[in-house]
Amino acid sequence: MSNKISNNGAILVLSGPSGAGKSTIINAAAEEIGEYYFSISTTTRPPRVGEEHGKDYFFVSKEEFEEDIKAGNFLEYAEVHGNYYGTSLKPVREALQEGKLVIFDIDVQGHRLVRAKMNDITTSAFITPPTLSELESRLRARSTDDEAVISKRIENAKKEILAVGEYDFTILNDTVEDATKEFVIIAKAARLKQNEEDQTEFITRWLTH
Ligand code: 5GP
Repeated sequence: MSNKISNNGAILVLSGPSGAGKSTIINAAAEEIGEYYFSISTTTRPPRVGEEHGKDYFFVSKEEFEEDIKAGNFLEYAEVHGNYYGTSLKPVREALQEGKLVIFDIDVQGHRLVRAKMNDITTSAFITPPTLSELESRLRARSTDDEAVISKRIENAKKEILAVGEYDFTILNDTVEDATKEFVIIAKAARLKQNEEDQTEFITRWLTH
């Protein structure tokens, strides 16, 4: 039985530099946070070794992406490291209608757009390694990107960190274990967040029963 006053869904936005460990943390927390829908983004960047179409991303051409923009299919999209990344509106809307917690892994621009559209059901967390030098060593250790791509990601991370104050929470990913524990708490809180519409309905029901 949920403690929520309605069955409407909620949004949890996660941002942070590539290499911050966002997907590792979500996977590690999956069992504890209950049912959720992870929003699979669409991107024009090429797949990394081991990434699968439809699981990690929907990998499309620039032309296809631009068609989707024109058709109004994105809840938000942004250009990151020279490629397009976007969140499709339809599956998110459906998951919210089913009352699910919807988790996004999007950049700071995407977070701003989601906040602008759905602030009252949104919770956000910025996930980062404890320092810039730690981020650099993790990106190099991952060795899935070449040096030029790594440099681009580091430059982008230096800019993204400036937006840390826009988020409800910060998770310093020092050890995956501790970061996962913090993430579980935040995800549970995000699920309980309610919008004003829910409250009006709840109050009417509460007063009349
Ligand atoms: P990566 O190439 O490392 O998978 O992702 C690069 C950056 O793009 C990350 O900061 C990630 O959060 C962001 N990103 C991934 N999908 C989306 C999306 O749908 N929208 C936005 N705005 N950013 C995204």
